[in-house]
Amino acid sequence: MFEKILIANRGEIALRIQRACRELGVKTVAVHSEADADAKYVRLADESVCIGPAQSSASYLNVPAIISAAEVTDAEAIHPGYGFLSENADFAERVEKSGFVFIGPRPETIRLMGDKVSAKNAMLKAGVPVVPGVDGALPDDPQEIIRIARSIGYPVIIKASGGGGGRGMRVVYTEAALLNGVNTTRAEAGAAFGNPTVYIEKFLENPRHIEVQVLADEYRNAVSLGTRDCSMQRRHQKVVEEAPAPGLTAREVARIGDRCAEACRKIAYRGAGTFEFLYEKGEFFFIEMNTRVQVEHPVTEMITGIDIVQSQLRIAAGEKLPFKQRDIQSHGHAIECRINAEHPYKFTPSPGRITSWHVPGGPGIRVDSHAFANYIVPPYYDSLIGKLIAYGDTREQAIARMRIALSEMVVEGILTNLPLHQEIMLDGEFVRGGTSIHYLEQKLAQASRGE
Ligand code: ADP
Repeated sequence: MFEKILIANRGEIALRIQRACRELGVKTVAVHSEADADAKYVRLADESVCIGPAQSSASYLNVPAIISAAEVTDAEAIHPGYGFLSENADFAERVEKSGFVFIGPRPETIRLMGDKVSAKNAMLKAGVPVVPGVDGALPDDPQEIIRIARSIGYPVIIKASGGGGGRGMRVVYTEAALLNGVNTTRAEAGAAFGNPTVYIEKFLENPRHIEVQVLADEYRNAVSLGTRDCSMQRRHQKVVEEAPAPGLTAREVARIGDRCAEACRKIAYRGAGTFEFLYEKGEFFFIEMNTRVQVEHPVTEMITGIDIVQSQLRIAAGEKLPFKQRDIQSHGHAIECRINAEHPYKFTPSPGRITSWHVPGGPGIRVDSHAFANYIVPPYYDSLIGKLIAYGDTREQAIARMRIALSEMVVEGILTNLPLHQEIMLDGEFVRGGTSIHYLEQKLAQASRGE
């Protein structure tokens, strides 16, 4: 195991990684911007280095500053967390070329999965079901584009190969709108991602978002840790996540899990990763792979008893996976609510001082948060201030515990989305389980019309 690692991130995930390190006896270096100098995880770290001013571009995305912080502190490895540089293949390469271990997949794997066309092709080859469409970039010839869209059938979605974060996508319902849509998406993609390549696939109208967590070591051992359902979204941002995805048969779960684990072996995947799928009428369709730890990893940890962040560290240190697929057991159900500093219905950010902070507890409750009373939520970064996770023997029990936890939680001084979570936990369709990715937006639209 490493003696010391550097955590190139902030907020709750920086604290989460630090906790995993402390349990393993690994020393930590926290890097931080000027705005995060007083953060809890900075104080708890064995060492800390200020890497720049508040803006991420000058600090958390400042590659030379991060590498030199690792050099001056003698860290052996760098954990990128999620967001920021976590899926930047050039960064991973720089880390390794500078003589440090990147706690994540090989740079070439990140590159392969970061481009949606190459990712989709790799998955097709590896036997993972993808959204129907053409396996490659769209050609220039308009007649050919029209022919391809007809063969897929409308509606279709035009997607930028280099897109991310829910941007660079356009749905087209008729042939009349097709060529214009392609040209606009190309132009936008060129400007936003520096890559005008677009592709086209079937637009699924009412899918669920179901993902599969995997762990793979250097030696082509790979396991699936089962499913998560993250369909409760607003503007492609996840709001509530749960594990396992409700309503799926054990056979379905084993089948898709095995496909993902097999794909990891085929592409020599290393580390923790997530295969994201749209799920409709009993079928899975791959949309993308996240080559990093995800915000929602705790729900899987709760039902499998496997510490995903510790596993990342062990894999990066060259250890073999200590379990085989048959050893992975899942018990009970877990739900996560993302607590954001924002207006609960207008979603405008609400940074500032938290004047009062009380977190819930009791059986099955876990809180992953870097916040505390008097903590000032900076305005420069995303609004996630913590995650409330509830575990139960059954989904019903997890929901019941989450309701209690939400009612106990007090955050004052800033606005949070706690009221929205309380509403979701009482929503009849959520309680039934298996809502589509459009459900929350439809519910919010109805509420704002006063229905
Ligand atoms: P990003 O990398 O920008 O997050 P994804 O490919 O993961 O892009 O897609 C983001 C979201 O867009 C999905 O969660 C889903 O809501 C929607 N989406 C993407 N592809 C399709 C599709 N073929 N049919 C319907 N919705 C889609």
